[in-house]
Amino acid sequence: MSETRTTCPYCGVGCGVTARRDGDLVEVRGDAEHPANYGRLCSKGSALGETVGLEDRLLAPDIDGETVDWPRAIAHVADGFKQTIAENGPGSVAFYVSGQLLTEDYYVVNKLAKGFIGTANIDTNSRLCMASSVAGHKRAFGADVVPGAYEDLELADLVVFVGSNAAWCHPVLYQRIAAAKEKRPEMRVVLIDPRRTETAALADLHLALRPGSDAVLFNGLLAHLAAAGAADREFAARHVDGVEAALTAATGYTPARVAEICGLPPGAVALFFDWFARREKSVTLYSQGINQSSSGVDKVNAILNCHLLTGRIGRPGMGPFSLTGQPNAMGGREVGGLANQLAAHMELENPRDRDLVRRFWNAPRVADRPGLKAVELFDAIHAGQVKAVWIMATNPLVSLPDSDRVREALAACPLVVVSDCVSSNDTLKYAHVALPATAWGEKDGTVTNSERRISRQRRFLPAPGQARDDWRILADFAQTMGFAGFDFASAAAVFREHAALSGFENRSRAFDISALADLSDEAYDALAPVQWPFAKGAAAPTTRLFGEGAFPRPNGRARLVPVTPRSPRSATTPERPLVLNTGRVRDHWHTMTRTGRSARLSQHVFEPYAEMHPDDARRSGVSDGDLARLTSANGEMIARARISAEQRRGCVFAPMHWSDEFAGSGRVNALVAANVDPISGQPEFKQTPVAVAPYAATWQGFLLTRHRVRLDHDGYWALGRGESHWRQELAGFAPPSSWEARARAWLGEGEEWIAFRDPAAGRHRFALMTGGRLDACLFVGDDLATVSRAWLGGLFAAGRLSAKDRLALLAGRPPDGRADSGPLVCACFGVGQRQIDAAIAAGAGSVEAVGAKLKAGTNCGSCKSEIAKRLRPAASAA
Ligand code: SF4
Repeated sequence: MSETRTTCPYCGVGCGVTARRDGDLVEVRGDAEHPANYGRLCSKGSALGETVGLEDRLLAPDIDGETVDWPRAIAHVADGFKQTIAENGPGSVAFYVSGQLLTEDYYVVNKLAKGFIGTANIDTNSRLCMASSVAGHKRAFGADVVPGAYEDLELADLVVFVGSNAAWCHPVLYQRIAAAKEKRPEMRVVLIDPRRTETAALADLHLALRPGSDAVLFNGLLAHLAAAGAADREFAARHVDGVEAALTAATGYTPARVAEICGLPPGAVALFFDWFARREKSVTLYSQGINQSSSGVDKVNAILNCHLLTGRIGRPGMGPFSLTGQPNAMGGREVGGLANQLAAHMELENPRDRDLVRRFWNAPRVADRPGLKAVELFDAIHAGQVKAVWIMATNPLVSLPDSDRVREALAACPLVVVSDCVSSNDTLKYAHVALPATAWGEKDGTVTNSERRISRQRRFLPAPGQARDDWRILADFAQTMGFAGFDFASAAAVFREHAALSGFENRSRAFDISALADLSDEAYDALAPVQWPFAKGAAAPTTRLFGEGAFPRPNGRARLVPVTPRSPRSATTPERPLVLNTGRVRDHWHTMTRTGRSARLSQHVFEPYAEMHPDDARRSGVSDGDLARLTSANGEMIARARISAEQRRGCVFAPMHWSDEFAGSGRVNALVAANVDPISGQPEFKQTPVAVAPYAATWQGFLLTRHRVRLDHDGYWALGRGESHWRQELAGFAPPSSWEARARAWLGEGEEWIAFRDPAAGRHRFALMTGGRLDACLFVGDDLATVSRAWLGGLFAAGRLSAKDRLALLAGRPPDGRADSGPLVCACFGVGQRQIDAAIAAGAGSVEAVGAKLKAGTNCGSCKSEIAKRLRPAASAA
């Protein structure tokens, strides 16, 4: 058994983990010494060990369905790129990469595209999550810098979450803040979000503002801070430009007017402004609710303005804090992973920067203008201007807005190369060449988290089949293209070059890790988590920036940006009266290619869902648990309706994880228009006008199978993994003339069929047995709410069924009267909603009391906010 210290591959918190490998088993724990998490992990991190393995892995290069060796695959791709460039110029090829890549991968692909091919047509899925923060930082500070550190969140007297459901999306940071608040109950927490998300469990004040009105709120706050005497005039005079212009733009945003525009109670707005004005130690945490907007950059600057005016930046317990979504969104920014950046925080438009990079790389042709940002890039593919694209470690067919158009673009593109670790996803279906990449646990390199902390991701599993590290695939490709400067011997060698470039002729660039440029292979391997900047000769890495001014703008001063709030690009209409907001759920990540492998993580939210307020549901004719059809100007999806008063009237929330691999019509981004912020190019995922109507299927059912079964079914379906089985929820319009024949067609003849039929009531139940074990069961009817999928699923792991279980099988309920535990809440201990409700009804009056009774929430703690939510009705009743 060996133990390796590495980093979680999911969110931007960047938790350290230890992975212990025992044969095929991998056990993952929190690294008690990692400064991001000090041993904590959320539900996703805790289940990492369940997501490794070779099932569904891409193990060999493939050209048009034929398995080939690496030399042939690389030569084929190089020929395709060379020919395309020769015929159409370097702008006709592109790379679309990912915040899942390690910094070393990112560095090599940027060097290749921007320095050697001569195109800046390389963009990343990080464009979809934090490009507005990058642009906002650069406008205000002169560089893309998050000035603070995680410990500031614990030291603050006021923590403001804006457009961030950190309880689910950055759970360990949320838990750190929750622990700090428990120690210092006087700490105030404010949540600004149209939804009452799980993060509200920690909030003293929730401002459920009108979608998209954040800039109004922060303009109002800016005006209030100036009027209330909370501005730090000395800091502003010495270190900040543009104060008067920003205040002029904010004039007239009185609390009353802000309340009216944002749809908030005036008293709540006044209270928030007062708390902010009175608490110097204030941190504003913001995330996709701010960034994913057609005016996201202005919203970011509206927040930064408040911190710069008050001088609350770069000192303990205060500052604006952009939470990055992906594990290495920050690392990608450091190497210039966006189409409008050069490496090491340099600028493509700056001739001096281009010359510096050209000399450092000894590059033949450095791109001299920004490339195509994500949405523009796929538009250019659609228009036939980009004719060869290489997609790495991302699934744009699911994650980009207007994703049906992305499908058309890839279908028409002459050369689509996809490198990934999985053998099947929505994007791979359009690949002419598929290249097997190593996955988490097999890769070696570094990632940077939201607090600028670089951590090692270390290899603890061998590369399977012919899978190779992304940087190496790219280096082989570059050398086959005839480019020098790509003969890296290791990830460490790539990192050393990246670190050296950051310090090369660096007189004012904030990103500088040149102190790490001379690490030996051994020192790189042992590298402890370290924050940047860390310049050669510096005594220690830098925890915070800008506390003493010294902003990396030419005059050393920051800038307040005047903000004129703008409405979302698309407005609701009588036909599409609701605003669709998209986001993440607790236990899934991106397009589920990893979390979808874990039975435990798949139980918490099984299907795509649409959450809406009871009034909107009534008007739409949809009840809780119904299937609903959501329609926008761009597309449609089918989702299970959840009715909740936590949702703001007029809004619908739907998660972004489901792809064509896991649901029949669950891609929410098919509905989202490709409206982008004019500066950052980040799409507006949060405000899409939609209509919701019942999906009036004539039959509903579900299927449990021992192995994954791909059905020929054009109605609704949603697929997920259970312990030793797969589950599919189904619905459709034209029932077959014989359900038994349909069951046999889907599942095969098998050894023994057990059946129950009530055709008059439309109820049909079948079970397929082999050697006394359950192999599959199909239930169809309108009475399935009472059938326990959890109990039936458990029978797949049980071996030969007992006579009692066999008798109870088609009743769908356990023979001993055990109650179904309900939808999963605690993934660590398998505790369901009904068990928690029963414990609360029996007197457990706090999260801790529920934990003492059921263990729920006592391991990773990710479910504590949901337990608190279930306690609320009881508390209100009391
Ligand atoms: Fe991973 Fe969870 Fe930590 Fe994010 S909070 S890095 S998902 S363990």
